[in-house]
Amino acid sequence: MLLLATGCVQEQRLSSTRELMGTIVTITVIGEDSAAIELAFKEIEKVESLMSRYDPDSQVSALNSEGYIENADTLLINVLRKAEYYSAISNGAFDVTVQPLLELYTESFRRKRKPPSDAEIKETLKLVDYANIMIAGDKVSFSKEGMKITLGGIAKGYAVDRAVEVLKQNGIKHALVNAGGDMRAIGSKGVEDWSIALRNPRDETDYITVIKLNDKAVATSGDYERYFIDKSQHHIINPKTGKSALGLISVTVITDKAIDADALATSVFVLGANKGLELIESLSGVEGLLITEEKEVIRSSGFSE
Ligand code: ADP
Ligand code: MG
Repeated sequence: MLLLATGCVQEQRLSSTRELMGTIVTITVIGEDSAAIELAFKEIEKVESLMSRYDPDSQVSALNSEGYIENADTLLINVLRKAEYYSAISNGAFDVTVQPLLELYTESFRRKRKPPSDAEIKETLKLVDYANIMIAGDKVSFSKEGMKITLGGIAKGYAVDRAVEVLKQNGIKHALVNAGGDMRAIGSKGVEDWSIALRNPRDETDYITVIKLNDKAVATSGDYERYFIDKSQHHIINPKTGKSALGLISVTVITDKAIDADALATSVFVLGANKGLELIESLSGVEGLLITEEKEVIRSSGFSE
């Protein structure tokens, strides 16, 4: 009645935010179903408890310390298989076995306040190759001692997809799940699509474009979120060189599912503008927006404003 009186009929919006998966997760639904939101957060907690590197009890931590696990959860197997697929189609640019390199950088900056030497990088690169992850049923093992994985480039997207499935199972028709910029929409916001402002990576107060989402997912990989000391030493590693990927400062990918957007954004970031754009164009239902170090904005052929 009150809403009608003001002359504007608005959808009821319910939004809840938690810290999960090493980032801020916000779930927004149109309606009043707080129980569905609660269940969706529970699902994200489940993904985190399996895949976090920071939780010593996670399956990923067990795999990293023992070199194998015998009772891998289906969710973990799903993510590892997806990771393998993106490694294959990106010609190894996407590779979850870069973890020893990330640790080498962290240690080197902690101890010497500078990046590791080329010799240290070369030595550590021997541990990096996704082809050395063996999956057989629910058993996962590494074929080299000392290998470690990080699912930081793909698990957030998967968590978003799982949360979306839970919301859908609970009858939600309009929602947005956002895990630190990796997001997926169920339907529209009601009357209009969800609109997402894509931040300017070098100016927080500015934005590049507004992306409209309706039953789609979007993810962004950038050098500005996490870096060691300066932005040339950031957390996305080129597995061919063992160094931070150069050339692009931001990659945004739009596709149906968040896991694909997440993994592809990281893959394209490593591949660089030419090969990255080529990969996006080769896949159906995938669009992307790339920003180069020179601040040039490149859009894939079907990227709509
Ligand atoms: P963000 O975590 O900022 O959203 P990304 O989705 O690009 O960004 O993920 C970056 C994370 O991916 C890193 O922190 C690391 O855990 C992991 N990673 C780094 N380099 C690679 C790579 N070449 N392939 C797969 N994962 C990577
Ligand atoms: Mg990613």
